[in-house]
Amino acid sequence: MAPPDQLVRSMLGGRTRDEVSLAAFWRLKRRYENWSDLVADDYHTLLSLIGDVTFPEDKAANLQAALGRLDLSRGNAALDFLGGWPVDSALSWLESLPGVGRKTSAAVLNFSTLGKRALVIDSHHQRVAKRLGLVRWKGSVEETYDVLMAAAPQEWQAADYERHHILIKAHGQKRCHHLAPDCGRCPLADLCPALT
Ligand code: SF4
Repeated sequence: MAPPDQLVRSMLGGRTRDEVSLAAFWRLKRRYENWSDLVADDYHTLLSLIGDVTFPEDKAANLQAALGRLDLSRGNAALDFLGGWPVDSALSWLESLPGVGRKTSAAVLNFSTLGKRALVIDSHHQRVAKRLGLVRWKGSVEETYDVLMAAAPQEWQAADYERHHILIKAHGQKRCHHLAPDCGRCPLADLCPALT
């Protein structure tokens, strides 16, 4: 996915089920030939298109503000300049955009065609990392990111970080549930301090 598309996709995805945010993303793609059209569109029209995602008012405003900061005359290449930057600098730049936090910034760098080494930490990832004792219970997403990035093997490439995200997210969805973790069938049970 092109980096600007990934930015929109991830901004819509905050605290929203994947299927809901993905459907909203494709409604935007069908309406807007390019993202400069979204920036120029009426706010309430945009809001009506994403009304089923969480916090739609904030997301509509942030989408217009964040995309408005990009050089959209470059189309899909509007964020390609980040490809030559160190990951930490690219994260900071992206997080200076309205409504962009560490989950979204890392997703733009890792999931898009930029293909950089950054780990996307979602709520499932946070919960599993905390239960496994890898990070503090009150630690932020940024802290979890820092700890897990430091622990990742040096040889990992972008695809390995993406795979790790997918696997831990799936573990959080299928086993390590928010309210009732299925510890009896967990392959990590022997390692998990949450059970002791
Ligand atoms: S043992 Fe239970 S709490 Fe620990 S990671 Fe597995 S499912 Fe989560």
